[in-house]
Amino acid sequence: MKEKELEHFKNLLLGKRQEMMKHMDAIKEIEMETTLKESTGDHSAYAFHMADQGTDSMEREKNFFYAQRDGRLLYHIDRALERIENGTYGKCRSCNGPIGEARLEAVPHATLCIQCKSKEEKAAGESEEPEELL
Ligand SMILES: [Zn+2]
Repeated sequence: MKEKELEHFKNLLLGKRQEMMKHMDAIKEIEMETTLKESTGDHSAYAFHMADQGTDSMEREKNFFYAQRDGRLLYHIDRALERIENGTYGKCRSCNGPIGEARLEAVPHATLCIQCKSKEEKAAGESEEPEELL
């Protein structure tokens, strides 16, 4: 892959990474506030606060889920940035062929070309990369 293209995908990955960090910080803040309220044992204040924020326990569980999902995505994004640094970015880790720019444009942290990806999905039944979430 050309220097210019690598630069493009690097920026794409860094942008996504930044977005995700912001998102995770926001979730951490919500979790911290909630823990604080719960530890005081003042449930009326807690309920009031949560209603005020438009959040409830279901919302909190969802946020927790997002935090984990983001953690996984962040991991894949960091690995992709490493691959840009060591020159293996854009190569399929299974067949060693090019992943293809259209695919990388959609999933910049992809490590498999579309053929190997669908093969692996069929074999494993489930995707290892959370790329459908991007
Ligand atoms: Zn492949």
